[in-house]
Amino acid sequence: MAAQVKENPILYIVIPCYNEEAVIEETVRRLTEKIDGMIEQKQVASNSRFLLVNDGSKDRTWEIICRLCEENPYVSGISLAHNRGHQNALLAGLMTARKYADIVISMDADLQDDIHAVDRFVDEYKKGADIVYGVRSSRKKDSFFKKYTALAFYRLMAAMGVETVYNHADYRLMTKRALDELAKFKEVNLFLRGIIPMIGFQTATVEYVREERFAGESKYPLGKMISFAIEGITSCSVKPLRLITVCGMIISLLSFIYLIYVIVGGLAGQTVAGWATLAVLICFFGGAQILCIGVVGEYIGKIYNETKARPRYIIEEARLK
Ligand code: UDP
Ligand code: MG
Repeated sequence: MAAQVKENPILYIVIPCYNEEAVIEETVRRLTEKIDGMIEQKQVASNSRFLLVNDGSKDRTWEIICRLCEENPYVSGISLAHNRGHQNALLAGLMTARKYADIVISMDADLQDDIHAVDRFVDEYKKGADIVYGVRSSRKKDSFFKKYTALAFYRLMAAMGVETVYNHADYRLMTKRALDELAKFKEVNLFLRGIIPMIGFQTATVEYVREERFAGESKYPLGKMISFAIEGITSCSVKPLRLITVCGMIISLLSFIYLIYVIVGGLAGQTVAGWATLAVLICFFGGAQILCIGVVGEYIGKIYNETKARPRYIIEEARLK
């Protein structure tokens, strides 16, 4: 069943902000122009809003948001008590917005994501999509390094069995219904790009060109990028644990073959006395230990999945009598 489409939906644009004093005023100015136009053309309701989430910034970000709340009728704000990172700030915004909105779009404070794609997001919603993914049409503006690390990231995710949308960051539209389902994912280690495809429903993609940041600096240095990738894998996949088991099996097998070779060598008297026993013991216990760690890992994997207490299914539609 397609989303329950409203002709004039209330749109909330959720924007996490961490030390963004250099950009938010300009961002809000551009978005105000955009939303004015959309309201005029009756694409979205006049009580649509921008929800700015201050992620424990150390600069004047919250002060500016508070001022904008008074000056600009579209601006609402929430402030987290502490810096919890982009994903958590985004979740806080989404969970707040779903109480008031019909549809919610998340985007970054630096407007790297083309805001003129918003119309197409809303069009896709009107065609029945519950989740619309913004997908970058090219990475021409990226540095060589960013381009290839990103490519490696998506490949690795796929190899680890995590379903992600290629070249999609966190620029997306979700309906209230999809957000209500997202709320049922109780996990603390949050990797939205891996979780949202698990929700299902009708989805669509919208291509856009990602620009460079117009002011301020990236809040995602290499260190954060690596920990984001590790977080993505470990919060959505237990494959690394399975790899330990497989590794243990292979080493055990190889040491068994080697064992035969050593025994034969020992019996033939070609080796120094005692060497054969030692070599056999080292190989055998090496393999056995890794295999045992793997087995323990398998159970940890189960515990890990249980503790997440994710919903086991999401019913999209029911026709009961
Ligand atoms: N951000 C956040 N908390 C953080 C780091 C970043 O809320 O701890 C926000 C930031 O304000 C921006 C978005 O996440 O709105 C994306 O960050 P950024 O543009 O610096 O990342 P990049 O585009 O360089 O990957
Ligand atoms: Mg950015």
